[in-house]
Amino acid sequence: MDDFDKDLVFPENFLWGSASSAHQIEGNNTGNQWWRWEEKSSHIADGSRSGRACRHYEHFGKDFDLVEVLGMNCHRFSIEWSRVEPEPGVFDEEAIDHYRMVLRALHERELAVFVTLHHFTVPQWFEDAGCWLNPEAPERFATFARKVADKLGEDIDYYITINEPMVVANASYLVGAHPPGHTDRDEFARAAVNLLYSHAKAARTIRESTTSDGETKIGIAKAITVYEAVDPNNGADVQEKDRRDRLLNAWFLDSLASGRALEPLGTSEPVPGLPGSCDFIGVNYYLRARVSPDSERMRQYYESMRGRTEQSDLGWEVYPEGIRQAAERAWKLRKPVFITANGIADHADKKRAKYIVSHLMELHGAIRAGVDVRGYMHWTLLDDFEWALGRVPKFGLAFVAPDSSRRVLKKSAGVFKEIATANAIPVSLLRRFFAPEPAQPPVPAPAPEPAPEPPPEPPPPHQEQPAQPETPPSPAQPQPPAPEPPLEPPPPDTQPRSPGSMTRG
Ligand code: BGC
Repeated sequence: MDDFDKDLVFPENFLWGSASSAHQIEGNNTGNQWWRWEEKSSHIADGSRSGRACRHYEHFGKDFDLVEVLGMNCHRFSIEWSRVEPEPGVFDEEAIDHYRMVLRALHERELAVFVTLHHFTVPQWFEDAGCWLNPEAPERFATFARKVADKLGEDIDYYITINEPMVVANASYLVGAHPPGHTDRDEFARAAVNLLYSHAKAARTIRESTTSDGETKIGIAKAITVYEAVDPNNGADVQEKDRRDRLLNAWFLDSLASGRALEPLGTSEPVPGLPGSCDFIGVNYYLRARVSPDSERMRQYYESMRGRTEQSDLGWEVYPEGIRQAAERAWKLRKPVFITANGIADHADKKRAKYIVSHLMELHGAIRAGVDVRGYMHWTLLDDFEWALGRVPKFGLAFVAPDSSRRVLKKSAGVFKEIATANAIPVSLLRRFFAPEPAQPPVPAPAPEPAPEPPPEPPPPHQEQPAQPETPPSPAQPQPPAPEPPLEPPPPDTQPRSPGSMTRG
């Protein structure tokens, strides 16, 4: 890709949208395990709480207006289990009606709807019963899935049973950054296997609902991270890279493909309902992570790379080729692929536009190479509550102050809009971000007085663009945190990271 002489056009009916989860934006999700976890301020890096979050529960209509303004044609959100089933087997009709209104508001705007059933939160009663370690978890999760399908299924186009199952297993049971904060290898394996069973059972249950028909599509959202060794010549680093890739990336996908809970986390037993459970594979892709079993070497590596590679505010390495690799990997299952999350923590909104364009260029490359990619959902629409990282990371296309009902689109949202509306990356955007620097004029021969004035430094390309939507207010925003290494699970034999850690896997 170097000529930049034509638009990169995406396939007809390609879906463009943003992704979100209930707890991160709705506000007042008092009945789930995160609400209780947040009560202890040391569990959240900045000591913040989800609280009223973005007040999306009240203001969803206003948020979907933004979605429309941005030219999107789909939307991904999650239904909060603890609202729908506040007690085991007791369903809250008001909450169900609320989500019906949400779904209708999306359809009125002609948006295809992706509904996630599990996005990190579970009702406190489910947590108390052992959560994903409880052998009854698949049955209980399927009961919730059945209720959603029976009551709301007519308005759901795409189901995502579980968001990032390996992040759930890893962050909750191995790294300890998410509730219940355990750091136990055996629990990690049991949770991973149980999540696989839970996905399979929920998928089967949804298909059995009378609201499901040939049009109903079911999938998962699988986080795929590109792992590299800190030092490719160091055997231990390479082993560590392979280990993470095998457990966190490959295991779930390979199990889906084989219909079995594969070793080493399972015993290769067939999982009822797993074969054929997915009509599509959702891919959540963010970064390339450099790993080593020696956490101090990892830290030093990231320290040394500061300012030398493009990074997000969280220190996550920007690596656009990775989205293509991730899509190609998911495509091995020969099911349509959707990018169900991709984005950057960028408080100043200086990197997001280029991040979007560069990742979409790579995704376009994957499509040209034959991968059946059907849509792209950006993480995320609103600056939200970012779990153990609190309120500081800013992933939104729109600025929202904590607990506020005010939204202001950022400049990068204008770039997203241009692409979604055109169903293409216009050549003007390609040139803006990637055209080679014009050749410098020859240096004039030294002359006597006066010395020639040097040409002014061109501003970075992203500053040349006209303000698209409104510029977000900059005051009153906390400074981004000092970048840290990508937050990854420690090898099983090292100490867990601080509770502020996040995990990708
Ligand atoms: C997770 C989100 C999280 C985001 C950024 C996503 O894909 O599912 O819940 O906020 O990654 O870390």
